[in-house]
Amino acid sequence: MRLYEFEGKKLLKEAGLPVGASEILVPGDDIPARAREAAERIGLPVVLKVQILRGGRGKAGGIKVAASALEAGETAGALMDSEFYGMKPACLLMEKALDIDREYYLGITIDEIEKENVLILSEAGGVDVEEAAKRKDARFVRWGINQIEGIFPFQAKEVASKAGFDGKLLNQVTGIITRAWDSYREWDAQLLEINPLAVTKSGDVVAADCRMEIDDEAMFRQKDRLLACGVEPREDRSRPPTRLELEGAEVDKIDHRGVAGRVVEFDGDIGLIIGGGGASLTVFDAILRYGGKPANYCEIGGNPTVKKIKKLTEVIVKKPGIACLGVITNVLSNTRVDLVARGVINGLLDSGVDLEKFPVVFRVPGSWEDDGFRILDKYGIRYFTRHDTMDNAAKYLVEMRNSIKGGGKSKT
Ligand code: GDP
Ligand code: MN
Repeated sequence: MRLYEFEGKKLLKEAGLPVGASEILVPGDDIPARAREAAERIGLPVVLKVQILRGGRGKAGGIKVAASALEAGETAGALMDSEFYGMKPACLLMEKALDIDREYYLGITIDEIEKENVLILSEAGGVDVEEAAKRKDARFVRWGINQIEGIFPFQAKEVASKAGFDGKLLNQVTGIITRAWDSYREWDAQLLEINPLAVTKSGDVVAADCRMEIDDEAMFRQKDRLLACGVEPREDRSRPPTRLELEGAEVDKIDHRGVAGRVVEFDGDIGLIIGGGGASLTVFDAILRYGGKPANYCEIGGNPTVKKIKKLTEVIVKKPGIACLGVITNVLSNTRVDLVARGVINGLLDSGVDLEKFPVVFRVPGSWEDDGFRILDKYGIRYFTRHDTMDNAAKYLVEMRNSIKGGGKSKT
């Protein structure tokens, strides 16, 4: 779950990190009046920040400083009425504006290659940190952190020192690093970014922004804790689910046995039923590489029932404009090939698909494959065996799609 800046800052504050005084302005009547009052309470000047679930707000004009209460009111009204990257602000965060001297970057995330957590502290903080990282002309201190060992204050001090801090700031930043790590671990975060970590002209270090993501797999144990901190748990989606995705999710619920669902819709015309995890991604990538356009991503595995596969097939081939179907997996050890074949064929036939005109390509080797191949032979469906790669099957599927006359709009 991705947190809004104001939610992340609640957690940071709880963990003892320095966060400025703030108020939230929720959408509704008379934003300007409420903003004026809030500005008086906080003390001028104030900074107004739109709350959307993505970064780059500064560059898009979503961060504004107001010198007077009147200006705060006008700015708040204008920000709330605007869109940023196609998103309406969920609310506005008003904070006492900082008199920033220098901006640092502090981030903790997972390094998938090194298989460890990684903390990065840099003097190149602010809205251009990505460009600075590419140019490599600023100091970026990287520190790998073992999940169990964590980071000790003496190590945090070394990081802060390497990033250029000394004197009183060195101790402040050392404390910020260890607390940021504690917070990251305690909340099962997969990302915690404080950018900028601002050093003010009066010599204070303040978390001026916060971007935090909690691992969805850990939500079961973080939900109640989040609520207790005033953060409403929600399901993250960049867009609402499509009808096809909702129907796919329903299919998976028919029966607890096996997976036949996790459907994500795309705007192409190549229907896919593909095998779990890495193999399905590999097939999906191969389709793209050969110039095909997938209509969907989905997963099957763990021996789903014939009924589930049949229903999944129906959901996929019902999509308007679908041109063909690929059923491509790695060698299945925990899923019966004959059941997959049976389910897909049942689904195709019940959907009224004309197998003469609608290409279907199988590459589903594995347990019970002899029975599976017999069924496929019976219906004249082209299949690849384990002696041919998933990649070849994907290539062949794209070729079949391209060979369809009239763009492959008809399936009957
Ligand atoms: P982002 O662009 O979405 O990452 O939003 P940030 O919260 O990081 O704000 C972007 C930039 O606005 C920061 O890098 C700062 O330069 C500036 N900014 C944010 N808050 C303040 C503030 O209180 N005072 C001043 N002077 N600048 C701020
Ligand atoms: Mn930022």
